[in-house]
Amino acid sequence: MQHRPRGLVVLGYHNVEGTACFPSAPGAGSRGLLQQFTALRKVANVVPIEDALQRMVDGAPLPPRAVAITFDDGYRDNLTVAGPMLRELGLPATCFLVPELLSREVTPWWEELAAAFQHARATSVGWAEQRVPLGSPDERRAAFKNVAADLKAMNGVRRRDAVKDLVAEADPAEPYRPEREFLDWDGARRLQDYMTIGSHSLRHDILSCEGADEQRTDILTARRRLQAELGTSAEVIAYPNGEATDYDARTVEAAERAGHTFGVTTEPGRNTAATPRFEIRRSVLLSERGAVELLKVMRDLVKSRTPQTAAQ
Ligand SMILES: [Zn+2]
Repeated sequence: MQHRPRGLVVLGYHNVEGTACFPSAPGAGSRGLLQQFTALRKVANVVPIEDALQRMVDGAPLPPRAVAITFDDGYRDNLTVAGPMLRELGLPATCFLVPELLSREVTPWWEELAAAFQHARATSVGWAEQRVPLGSPDERRAAFKNVAADLKAMNGVRRRDAVKDLVAEADPAEPYRPEREFLDWDGARRLQDYMTIGSHSLRHDILSCEGADEQRTDILTARRRLQAELGTSAEVIAYPNGEATDYDARTVEAAERAGHTFGVTTEPGRNTAATPRFEIRRSVLLSERGAVELLKVMRDLVKSRTPQTAAQ
């Protein structure tokens, strides 16, 4: 009889309720997330990612249909909405946090810029030698999408400068208040009642856009600060943005040197013992899409045969 490796599916969430960057109807995110978690409890065995990955590497058995739940970035509703739901349903999860977002040393630029465009008093901003219109809601969304794609290709220093200029030029009716949407250190400590904490880098820079030394310092400092502030071991790191072009071989090396045991991407696929330890596959889910989306993702993953490649 042929032995089929069971493997591990990792799901990735961000915000629960809608934001300027990821809009959805009020209440839809919470309702959808509850549907997804409830469905997961029926169709899967939800396991802690740290333990499950280690078991897989050690050749120890995993339960059938093993799934790990993760969240990125530290949105406040991970604590107020997702945490209590996880507890109620008895499900483990891990949240990947960003120390300089928690300390407010950097802003979540994607939300700050989306909000600035949404509430712009200016009718256009200058970008790449052109005027980008901000007149209608459609124009604002299109402007954000186009500009954000360029910003993600920049190193952190350049991007922070560019975002600052864009926000000033858009002249939003009110300043962005990260505390409304994002946890601080105190919130992160309370989140530990519901979730294990991992690293999501020091300031959410796209790591492949940074030099080798910068990546090493970033990843090591992030882990040390999470350990010092939260008393967590922060075993696992999730790379910001997490697609194949957002991390590279230097990232993997830096993550390993910082003492992480696994690195998680946002490249979808099922993980097996053959999956590189620092390129763990993960499927990103939108909570507001509810159980239909969850079941579709699970079906696709069962069918998929993901090629396992190492970072270039
Ligand atoms: Zn992120």
